[in-house]
Amino acid sequence: MIYFDHAATTPPYKEVTETVAEVMARHYGNPSSLHRLGEESDRLLNKAREVCAAALSVNPKEIVFTGGATESNNTAIKGAALQYTNRGKHLITTETEHPSVYECCKQLESWGWEVTYLPVDADGLVAAEQVQAALRQDTVLVSVMHVNNETGTLQPVAEIGAMLKDKAPRVLFHVDGVQGFGKLPLAVKGSGIDLYSLSAHKLRGPKGVGLLYVREGLKLSPLLAGGGQEGGIRSGTENIPYIVAFAKALRLASEGQPSRAAKLGALKDRLLRGMIALPELLINTPGASAPHIVHFSYPGTKAEALLHMLEEEGFFVSTRSACSSRRSEPSRVLLAMGRSPEAASSGIRISLGEEHHEQDIDALLAALKKSVQRLQSLR
Ligand code: PMP
Repeated sequence: MIYFDHAATTPPYKEVTETVAEVMARHYGNPSSLHRLGEESDRLLNKAREVCAAALSVNPKEIVFTGGATESNNTAIKGAALQYTNRGKHLITTETEHPSVYECCKQLESWGWEVTYLPVDADGLVAAEQVQAALRQDTVLVSVMHVNNETGTLQPVAEIGAMLKDKAPRVLFHVDGVQGFGKLPLAVKGSGIDLYSLSAHKLRGPKGVGLLYVREGLKLSPLLAGGGQEGGIRSGTENIPYIVAFAKALRLASEGQPSRAAKLGALKDRLLRGMIALPELLINTPGASAPHIVHFSYPGTKAEALLHMLEEEGFFVSTRSACSSRRSEPSRVLLAMGRSPEAASSGIRISLGEEHHEQDIDALLAALKKSVQRLQSLR
């Protein structure tokens, strides 16, 4: 089987699984304990924080470890909204955010906040000018993702950050960086980004651990009341094995970014060239997109049918995003891009990994061709 679902999750590095097992067995002390075992864990935690900070070129004090990007996104958005009610109760986001941002905003709306959901164009893009036009005196925060998890669309977050940086009164800027980090360069520091979310399992690290970059000086209202770990923002005993392994994966993701982007980009071009030759496939991934995601619709067929045919041929792909694939309604992201409900219900996402080779792409293309022909003959 060949795994083409890296946007859902990635196979962990061997170094990651080994680190988890080793740290879990040997360094089980609570980092808050004052004895030697506790101090050892605290040292590992601090070291991991330094490694993550270096990978992001930020200050270690600005890293808050969380239980994944869903938590990072909720902590950033709700934490800022609750902290800065004196500035206002208006938020801006887009119609194509991940559910952990979108549903979080919906929840805040039900709690009395106002949210502007910016529409996107046919490529899934939002423009910095749209954000600018939506700003109000009572806007507290803007949240725009770096790379869309369904289509790979690359949002102009550097431009949005540059525009927001000079605004008075200051509006906070949160970026969900989950699908972009390690694939595309993005300067967090000095770019107008105040809050930045990452998840380890999209970077060949463990599931259930992530981080939130919180610009120095910024306060967030904590979602969990407790012992005050992680600068008071995320109470709860830190998951040392996962955090240490995450730091390793993040360092590798950061160091290999340029070569990984080049390799994935070439594989994606090869895949797209082959797919264009297959009639009836509607490519939803735009030109300005991440190097690891190709999304297409095959109207007239249920996406699951094609997914399972590809599985029979030895390939794991995805119907849109893992977080929504068990829902039967059409993709909110594709509908926002103006696709028909039919096209928005028949989407397939192929997401590439650094371990793939040209032969894997060619084999996938052959399976895709065969499956499409089979489906056509069944019509
Ligand atoms: N944001 C994006 C863009 C994602 O792709 C995901 C994972 N599907 C998340 C947030 C949530 O990450 P996690 O699984 O770590 O909660």
